[in-house]
Amino acid sequence: MKKKLLVGMLILAVAAFLCTFNASTVLAAKKFVSIASGWVVGVYYPLAGAISNIAHKNLPDIKITVESSGASVANAKLIATGDADMAILQNDISFYALQGVKPMFDKPVANIRGITSLYQEHCQIQARKDAKIASVADLKGKRVCVGPLGSGTEQNAMQILEAYGMKFDDFAKVERLTATESSDYLKDGRIDAAFYSVGVGAAGLVDTAMTVDCVIVPVDGGQRDALMKKYPFFTKAVVAKGAYKGVEADVPTVAVMAILAARAEMEDAMAYQITKAIFDNLKDIERAHAKGKELTLESALTGMSIPLHPGAEKFYKEKGIKK
Ligand code: GLU
Repeated sequence: MKKKLLVGMLILAVAAFLCTFNASTVLAAKKFVSIASGWVVGVYYPLAGAISNIAHKNLPDIKITVESSGASVANAKLIATGDADMAILQNDISFYALQGVKPMFDKPVANIRGITSLYQEHCQIQARKDAKIASVADLKGKRVCVGPLGSGTEQNAMQILEAYGMKFDDFAKVERLTATESSDYLKDGRIDAAFYSVGVGAAGLVDTAMTVDCVIVPVDGGQRDALMKKYPFFTKAVVAKGAYKGVEADVPTVAVMAILAARAEMEDAMAYQITKAIFDNLKDIERAHAKGKELTLESALTGMSIPLHPGAEKFYKEKGIKK
């Protein structure tokens, strides 16, 4: 009897050991990847969420977590310091990061690599209708949010103003608010206008336009030509009629591309797996936000402003879209 008890205990002990051993090896095998995204009421954040879900469903060894942030400039810096493994950011800002363009960046973000281009982001100046702002020039003397701290939006706001011979100093008040706050400030009349370089249909702008009468201020004419000449990442674009409540005609502006980037230090096999999983599950990206529909294999390299990560490059070579 005693012997049986001993054998039983031994079996239990071995089983318990095996269980812990298995759990710890599984834990050790799981790799954690963080994506620096952007504004909760923007497009980066829901799209990064979709990428995290795709990994959850298809890549058992990889867990992707999503962080919200001011966006492009902040995200490039998180890549540099290794505080993020991946990031979504504008293609103009990723290029400036790689070059170390001052004052945005103290030194080059030498380890930033491309995974894929995502979709077009329009420079949208949303203004309260009662502020009577029909052109960029009318922003003079107004209270304006120029974008969140660390955003690409703030840089684009400066560049657009420069083309119109203006500066932030021309505003009565300059705010750097999160996109959620700038939407609230517009609704309450605490600001007159806000700059956003973001995918058309971003929740923040939709929500503002539903609550208060708003317009989108055009960027056009000779000023737009000058802007595109000086900053070649801008392309001509239109915020289409009906994009938001109250937008009754197409509004000309400029756009950049949103791209997904990774640290050069990410293993090639992992970058390959993530790239492949994204393109194998484009339906999930589309479901996260209407802008996700713009992502296709054919357009994956459109506007890519930085060298590709070798893992992503391998995938594109296999698919024949890169030589
Ligand atoms: N393009 C924006 C920026 O860097 C972020 C947009 C978003 O979060 O969707 O300023």
